[in-house]
Amino acid sequence: MSHEIRTPMNAIIGMGELLLDTDINEEQEDFLITIRESSYALLYLINDILDFSKIEAGKLDLVEENFNLHTLLEISLESLAARAEEKGLELALYLDPDIPTGILGDSGRIRQILINLLGNAIKFTAEGEVILSAKLLKADKKQLDIYFSVRDTGIGIPAQKTGLIFDKFTQADGTTTRQYGGTGLGLAISRQLVELMGGKIGVSSSPGKGSTFYFNLVLKKGEDFTEELLPVADLLNLPVLIVDDNATNRLILEKILTNWKMKPLSCSSGTDALKLLNIKAASDEFIPLVLLDMQMPEMDGETTAKKILNTPALKETNIIILTSMGKRGDAKRLSKMGIKRYLTKPVKQSQLYNAILTVMSKKAVTKHAQKAAIKQADHVISKETPVKILLAEDNPINQRVAVKILEKKNYTVDVAENGQMAMQALEKDQYDVVLMDVQMPEMDGLTATKAIRKLNSAVKDIPIIAMTANAMKGDEEMCLESGMNDYISKPFKPVELYAIIEKWSQKGR
Ligand code: ADP
Repeated sequence: MSHEIRTPMNAIIGMGELLLDTDINEEQEDFLITIRESSYALLYLINDILDFSKIEAGKLDLVEENFNLHTLLEISLESLAARAEEKGLELALYLDPDIPTGILGDSGRIRQILINLLGNAIKFTAEGEVILSAKLLKADKKQLDIYFSVRDTGIGIPAQKTGLIFDKFTQADGTTTRQYGGTGLGLAISRQLVELMGGKIGVSSSPGKGSTFYFNLVLKKGEDFTEELLPVADLLNLPVLIVDDNATNRLILEKILTNWKMKPLSCSSGTDALKLLNIKAASDEFIPLVLLDMQMPEMDGETTAKKILNTPALKETNIIILTSMGKRGDAKRLSKMGIKRYLTKPVKQSQLYNAILTVMSKKAVTKHAQKAAIKQADHVISKETPVKILLAEDNPINQRVAVKILEKKNYTVDVAENGQMAMQALEKDQYDVVLMDVQMPEMDGLTATKAIRKLNSAVKDIPIIAMTANAMKGDEEMCLESGMNDYISKPFKPVELYAIIEKWSQKGR
């Protein structure tokens, strides 16, 4: 079913995106945007229903892979940052430092639960904050019991409804459907997934004040990812002033900095910050680093920064600005003012750490500069020689959609109609990347990939990206097991396809 439904959806979404880029008038553009929004809405609905029926039929198998839980939480939050920013909500993460990075489990499904709860929290909150936290409840040699919570300051849920919303197709208030949209499936799926992973999900809420959705998962310990987050000697005991009007944000930053063995202090306004910085400087306890929130009432971050840097005793202060609304031109203007770094919220811990390192130590700056230079060089290569792609796809409509999207980026594309023909093409010509449909007549994508990986020539290492119409978890696993490097599920957005091609075409050279 998944494949049958997704193939026409792919054409509708793909062709719609292409049409939007043509010369059309405003009214037509308006119609097309509505078609596009509705197509995506329909797609999410279809995904939910397919998912739910798979779970109900007991056909959902969890995969077990080693993944970095810290990164997963950060990515999940990041993917919703734009939506939170549109509504002016603070979005933040608190992560218990005792939680190991390496976990064995189904990262895709954990992400699905998080995105669902976070998405709801943002949807049902008009002002305030949405906070994701993760704490370690229990750990032994093999297993971890981790408690996750998503707290919002939104509309809340009446007590008599809290038991019902985890049932399928149930919403706390039927009349809110119009205002907020949604299907009533998200929480039902989340509950099933949590239970499959040995946990329990629940909610506590007070109407008008907000809700906290929480769940725990029993996960296996994996191999830890060693990140370069070890405190560098220079940063030990580093005094850092946090300036943010939001108390939760201050608390989170304090905890993070304390974990890094720095010495955080905090203030809730620019005025207080200036006072404190002056007092400290006068008593020979100069604070070298300030983390400054951009959006604050009364005096905003930029004004505060200006005042700090214009005070002779404080002009050596290093300032990192944290903002939830990055606008074009901000970075340039701020750096002219003498502000060293500028980060967009929700800030990843690793990003913040690197920013502090860069600002505080010269060595890190050169390393950073080196990285940037390498990136630039990569970019030049990709500009000079167009990327050449082999597209293996049997469905003529899907072929057209993909070719048109690829040609927009000036990629060169050849099409093969099945796995067999793709192999022949690879023998004749040189390509940077293969985009491989999975279900094809004669020779399917998985068989073709296995055969390519066994070849006796350099072709065997070519990056192969699966294009699957079955966005089901197990299928992605199957693709990777057959030797493919990555996958993208249809229907895809052009930018997603470009990103995945950029990623792999560099490696193929
Ligand atoms: P959907 O959001 O698609 O309607 P869900 O199953 O995710 O479906 O949620 C079911 C219902 O639970 C929502 O319609 C809403 O009434 C209520 N709900 C879920 N999350 C929240 C929240 N954070 N704040 C208030 N109500 C919520």
